[in-house]
Amino acid sequence: MTLTNPLPLAQQLMRCPSITPREAGCFALLRQWFDQLGFTSDVISFGDGDARVDNFFAHAGGGDHPKLLLSGHIDVVPTGDETLWTYPPFSATVADGYLWGRGACDMKSSLAAMVAAVARHKQTYGKNPPLAFAATSDEEGIAINGTAKLLPHLAARGHTFGFCINGEPTSNRVVGDTVKVGRRGSFSATLHVQGRQGHVAYPQLAQNPVPVLLNLLQALRHLPLDKPFAQFPPTHLEITSIDVGNPARNVIPATASANVNIRYNPAYTHDELTEMIQAMLARIADKNIFSLHVVTPPTPAFITQNTPLLEKMIATIARTAGVTPALSTDGGTSDARFIQAFCPVIDCGPTNATIHQTNERIALTDLEKITEIYAAMIDVFTRH
Ligand SMILES: [Zn+2]
Repeated sequence: MTLTNPLPLAQQLMRCPSITPREAGCFALLRQWFDQLGFTSDVISFGDGDARVDNFFAHAGGGDHPKLLLSGHIDVVPTGDETLWTYPPFSATVADGYLWGRGACDMKSSLAAMVAAVARHKQTYGKNPPLAFAATSDEEGIAINGTAKLLPHLAARGHTFGFCINGEPTSNRVVGDTVKVGRRGSFSATLHVQGRQGHVAYPQLAQNPVPVLLNLLQALRHLPLDKPFAQFPPTHLEITSIDVGNPARNVIPATASANVNIRYNPAYTHDELTEMIQAMLARIADKNIFSLHVVTPPTPAFITQNTPLLEKMIATIARTAGVTPALSTDGGTSDARFIQAFCPVIDCGPTNATIHQTNERIALTDLEKITEIYAAMIDVFTRH
């Protein structure tokens, strides 16, 4: 089978119902293709029982020199009501110039395009580029036993990478118009307030935690988060939940809690935010009646430093796509956050208009375009 055409590869991957954290046959396909290309490949698993996650890794070419890492995830989010889809979500139907189905943009097409791009390079030059490929099956889930563990594992075994293209769907209007060169950090915490339960008609015999929680949250809304950082949107805090769980109208509850999340730019660190919040809360209420549970491990903010190689890669995308990519740091997080500690990384992939939606689909012309972009980037890396 020729591997230079990404369409049948994307279709085969999309017909595996790999809802997080199942790989559902995707890795057997990847293994077969990378075997055919002459790569060494392996499935590397982390976690036990239900927490177990399988990850795929393949590499070839370049000896001990740092390789180009192409990365992504084969897991997809659930389909929702399948009867609402024009074509069954795992049928990978081609119609009206589109490839339809779950994972069409997020992000099995990217992985198929990466394989096709490697195959085209090999066809042109008669040998493999200095390249590695990594795919996890837990990016859309809790992401503990996926890329977060795979990269340190590979580093400990002597694998080094000079640059990484993570194939998330970053494009807005046309393929290549936006790439992500950094991400905000994410700080999550739960604030608990302890009171004393009692009859609502006898408040002097109880301690209501709800007004205390409201005062604390009001203070957090005014936490000064105004340090700017170039190329990043402002840091901001959102209250995402307030939980009392009290069905009785005549009872003062014993406890109340709330969840907050901060998306922060690199002007802040996770520890600094924790200290700022603790100090602010301690000014409002007695330390003995509240506690702050900060979710770990932290998700740090990062920016990929501008280097001659990054500039060349961006210029290559612009030339191939016919549009100058915006260098963005907004939006949600991606596995790039686990890769950035090991090598410069950008997210670059197809359009995101239909991701996680009913009738997710990619234009066939976009699938070809992203393949050409990856192939051109492989060429640039090989020659740099
Ligand atoms: Zn994704």
